[in-house]
Amino acid sequence: MSDFWLYLESYTFLFESETSALILNTVSNQSCEIELNEVNRIIIQKLNNPTNVYCISLTESEFSNPEIGQFIYSLQRIFAGDVISQTISHKKPISLFPFINVKEDVKNILSKGPILGGEKLKMYVNEITIYLDSDCENHCESCSTGYKQTLFCRKGEGNLNPDQVIDFIEAFSNYHLNMINFIGGNVLNYPHLNRLITELWKYKKNIYIYINIRHINKFVEEMNTVNKLGCHVVILLNEIAMLKENTIELLNIAKNFRIIFIVTSISEKELVDHIVMTYNILDFEIVPFYLNNQDFFEEFVYLEREDILSMSHTMNSILRKKVLNEFDFGKLTVLADGSVFSNTNQNQLGRIGQPIHELLINEIEIGNSWFRIRSNKMCQGCIYQWLCPSPNNFEVMARKVNLCHIRHTDQICSSSNLGKFLE
Ligand code: SF4
Ligand code: SF4
Repeated sequence: MSDFWLYLESYTFLFESETSALILNTVSNQSCEIELNEVNRIIIQKLNNPTNVYCISLTESEFSNPEIGQFIYSLQRIFAGDVISQTISHKKPISLFPFINVKEDVKNILSKGPILGGEKLKMYVNEITIYLDSDCENHCESCSTGYKQTLFCRKGEGNLNPDQVIDFIEAFSNYHLNMINFIGGNVLNYPHLNRLITELWKYKKNIYIYINIRHINKFVEEMNTVNKLGCHVVILLNEIAMLKENTIELLNIAKNFRIIFIVTSISEKELVDHIVMTYNILDFEIVPFYLNNQDFFEEFVYLEREDILSMSHTMNSILRKKVLNEFDFGKLTVLADGSVFSNTNQNQLGRIGQPIHELLINEIEIGNSWFRIRSNKMCQGCIYQWLCPSPNNFEVMARKVNLCHIRHTDQICSSSNLGKFLE
């Protein structure tokens, strides 16, 4: 009689809920779900205990148990783990238990004190969005909420001082900042845009200019100038059905750039399909937009089990989602009135003239964006908790913590805690 080693491969993830478990091979993306019972639950919990480093000992009688045999077969079928006799290997096979701890890293940084710690935190900032101006002669219904869901133009208050913008970006010049997004109002109407682009070019960052299609007609020359300066131009297109004929014709110009279509309904989605075909648009993205359009969201945005499992899940992507928000982490937004946010649905971090380290320490200490993970009560009991995308702005807008068809409870945020995101 000999015992056995039951082990998981180091690229395997094992998720458990109260009633079921999901085994995922992150190399092949194959997965398998099993119902939990008294016998296999104990084995799975032991395997998921970090101190066992993905390998446990099984007695001969455990190995012969049909429930455990079924679990072993499930592992073997997707090459996620196996058993070997301890007569072959006396020593426990080593399999690395997946682990990441960015928060600990951040805590170490904070222990260096606010100024030194804040300087180190700049390393994390990789994308800055700046609303240079807030003027626009249009009246889109989605203007007041669009920018809270996705990167979108907005009317508001103020115009930023270009020297302040340059100082703000220069503070990150030696760090990992990769992307600078300039947007308005009508950013082409901002008088200092060319100066900003020219002065910031030396830092070799990717500069994106976001322009609503409604602004192109009067500013074709300006748009071509920023394009020639080496910027990436992105055209925003919202409220598609309301566009006038002469604006639609501007797609002949817009199709030379990346286009982001904002859609709120099935008919708008069909219209976009038609436009893309008619104008032969190749570089585009379709972004859903929440406008109390529950039916549309349920059909096009809510996730099904198959959607989640067909996404590509790597070891890193899963571990990242356990500790940080994949949409917000490393991002800052400055509005045209000078207010700075890590997420515009959250509290303001400070103002543009303030020392950067103060803004970043505010995000780490009191903010709730960069480290907002899928830890709400609804998702905590779900085997897809760390496979689902991080919490996003659509959930905030829809006042729901899970935009999926998998777990149904009308767990609606109350308006009082909406701004804090439901946890
Ligand atoms: S074009 Fe943009 S800034 Fe102007 S009203 Fe519409 S959404 Fe607002
Ligand atoms: S959103 Fe939450 S409840 Fe829905 S599948 Fe994802 S983790 Fe599960």
